[in-house]
Amino acid sequence: MMARTPLFAGNWKMHKNVKETVDFLDAFLPMAKGISSEIAFCPPFTSLWAAAEKIRGSGIKLGAQNMHWEDKGAFTGEISPLMLKEIPCDYVIIGHSERRQYFAETDETVNKKVKSAIKYGITPIICVGESLEQREKGKTLSVVLNQVEKALFEVEIKDGCDLVFAYEPIWAIGTGKVASPSDAQEVIGAIRKKLSQLYGEKLSQRIRILYGGSVKPENIKELMAQPDIDGALVGGASLDAKTFYKIASYES
Ligand code: PEP
Repeated sequence: MMARTPLFAGNWKMHKNVKETVDFLDAFLPMAKGISSEIAFCPPFTSLWAAAEKIRGSGIKLGAQNMHWEDKGAFTGEISPLMLKEIPCDYVIIGHSERRQYFAETDETVNKKVKSAIKYGITPIICVGESLEQREKGKTLSVVLNQVEKALFEVEIKDGCDLVFAYEPIWAIGTGKVASPSDAQEVIGAIRKKLSQLYGEKLSQRIRILYGGSVKPENIKELMAQPDIDGALVGGASLDAKTFYKIASYES
């Protein structure tokens, strides 16, 4: 099996203005030298430019939390992939459950955004995950695999590095309730199997699949010990530099 470089991505949501972003990176950058995994931060749009200036040359990556699929046009309030390229952003989170829940994101818009991000060379971090009700009804795998399939409708990939998945059970996001490592592995293993049906075994082994949902320094090691978990998308615990450092350096 091919080794996948772990990725730890901080989803800052609607937190951290420009000054707070710069202060965070001033504290985090010296610590980052000891981390062998890949690190990415996804600040609000207004802090992207300042973050890009700050991380230049550090090897740390930058991501946005959303984008439109069109490259320009009359879409008031939206941000295009070309604007993200200009920053430059390496990643963009697509289909986060908060966007699906509060901003009418659908499997169809997720699919359009995934195609557009790949076209412009921005790696989408595609979020999928079931609600508590769906889990309790035993529908977890069918819901999640359906989201995966729809996100990838007519999506062509080259080498498996063109996209990342994040399995984020909705009931675990911001609640303090983390999925057990074996439950997370079960779903993430099933996602990889679906990817192997869609793109073949070799490419599926190269695609990184993250876990997200109440990740903390105390639970990351066990999650990372699972064979198919390749890192984490971290919300609340990514807002503090020391805490995020502890998560990203789980192996040390
Ligand atoms: C998220 O929103 O992507 C997330 C994982 O949040 P938290 O870590 O706060 O549960």
